[in-house]
Parts: sequence; C-alpha cells; structure tokens
Amino acid sequence: MEVISKNQEIQLKLLQDKKISLYIKREDLLHPFISGNKYRKLKYNLIEAKTKNIKSILTYGGAYSNHIAATAYAGKENNIQTIGIIRGEELAHKWQENPTLRFAASNGMQFKFVSREVYRNKLSDLTLQNLKNEFGQFYDLPEGGTNELAIKGCEEILNNDKNFDIICTAVGTGGTIAGIINSTIENQKVIGFPALKGDFLKKDICKFTDKYNWSLNTDYNFGGYGKVSEELIKFINDFKFQTEIPLDPIYTGKMMYGILDLVKKGYFKPGTKILVIHTGGLQGISGMNTILKKKNLPLLLL
Ligand SMILES: *Cc1c(COP(=O)(O)O)cnc(C)c1O
Repeated sequence: MEVISKNQEIQLKLLQDKKISLYIKREDLLHPFISGNKYRKLKYNLIEAKTKNIKSILTYGGAYSNHIAATAYAGKENNIQTIGIIRGEELAHKWQENPTLRFAASNGMQFKFVSREVYRNKLSDLTLQNLKNEFGQFYDLPEGGTNELAIKGCEEILNNDKNFDIICTAVGTGGTIAGIINSTIENQKVIGFPALKGDFLKKDICKFTDKYNWSLNTDYNFGGYGKVSEELIKFINDFKFQTEIPLDPIYTGKMMYGILDLVKKGYFKPGTKILVIHTGGLQGISGMNTILKKKNLPLLLL
C-alpha cells in the first residue's frame, strides 16, 4: 500500500508578485515519529530485514540524526532490535542531555559511541568485522539509511504530481533526491539543496539514477551541516508565522530560504509551478534549541 501526503499551497505576497505557484508536499506529516523521507527510506529495508528474519538493524549517525531517531522508533514498532553507531566518543557519558539520543534510547536503541576517525572508516571491512564480533548478525543499514531499497521507497514520494515544472528537495546523503529524480516525468526538473558542504554528492547521486534532469544548488548550506545563523532562525520563525508550516533548521529551513531567495532574484520564469518536498526532520528542533540557548541566540518557535 502506498502512502500519499497532501500538497499544500503556500501563499506569500512574494510568490504572488513574481507569479510563481509554490506547493509543499507535507511528508513531515506522514508519521508522528518517523517523519518524512526517513519513513520512505526505511520502508523496504524493514521489509527486507523481516523477510530475512534478521533480528537487529545496525546503523550510523550523528548526535542529532533524524535517521537515528526514525530507525529506533521503527525498530520498536516492528519488533526489531536497533543498534546505533554514534559519532563522537565524548557523548558516551552525556548522551542523556541530547533529545534525539534520549528519544532513540527510550525506544530501545543500543548505542556504541565511536571517535570521529573510527566513524569515518565505518565502511571498511575491518570495522564491519569488529561490529559483527561485538553484536552478532545484523542488518547493516548505511548512514542516513541510503541504499537501493531506500531509493525504491523514495520513488513513492511523487505521486500524480505531473503538473509541476520543478521539484525541490533538501539533500543530505542524496538518497531522497535520487528516488525523486527516478520518478519524475519528461520536462520536470529537480533542484536539490545540500545541507552540507562537499563535492562528493553529485557522484553519490549518480550511483542511484541515470537521469540528467537535476542539479544541486550549493549556495544555501549556511556554512555546513548543522550550522545556522540568526538570519536563518528568523526566516524559519517568520515562515512558520506566515504559513503555519514548521521547517527544521538542518534541511528544510535552508532549502526554503534558498527557494524564496531564488524567487526574489527572478530565477524562475513567471508561471512556473514548483513543488517543494517537506522531508520532515522536526524532531531536530529541540536539539538545535539547546545549542542556540548555549550560544545566546534566538530560539526556534515550536
Ligand atoms: C535525512 C534528511 C534529508 C536528507 O535525505 P538524504 O536522503 O540523506 O539526502 C533531508 N531532509 C530531512 C528532514 C532529513 O531528515
């Protein structure tokens, strides 16, 4: 059974002035705890793990990872144990201060905290063998959940959206955009807004799609993954006030800032119909607020 989320029109004076029609696909409302694209990416992986009768899923992420939170909850829902390899040894004695990790633990996820160096080498055989020695048999789910089955799930995001000229999505590991690209029709274009710096992404995306109707706009990463500015926070709060749609500070907030900035600059022809994918990620807001509070910056409205 395919789950479909609704497209909601965004009404802003700027859009009216520029004659741009903008809709947002509310994938953030798919599930109360497994939001947006993480739900899509887990779907076929969970089916595969269950079919193979594998009792635990092991995966990787940073301290605020939406994927870690989603996997923990999905594991509990599906009676599959979950193991999280978490970046940052220093968290071992203070993970309780982190809302994402608290949530994951309360849903039964077991953690292993590793140094940044070990984390970087997580794909090497040695590490994998070490993990097998330590945890026994498990379903190895890559960082961000991105693999062939995740892309298959993300190919179900677009659904009868043929009347849109442009599809926009935030990009992390590139799995979500690859699935979206695969399900576009001729003449549709996909623009991805990476939430992090790095040139590796384009190659990664090409591994999962053979279409060329897409591009990445790297102008709106705000300095890198997890970095925010006062201007971005203000934008997200204003957007929520005007549209009642919450955005997350890591992915969708940066993307929407970018889209509206491009509209302002006249990047899109009048009459263009744009569909923006709200990939979710709202669980990350309270973690970001803890950081903002420490830095004495304004907080995100909940
Ligand atoms: C993980 C995530 C993304 C990035 O998805 P990828 O498939 O890794 O590119 C985008 N938006 C949100 C809210 C996410 O949690």
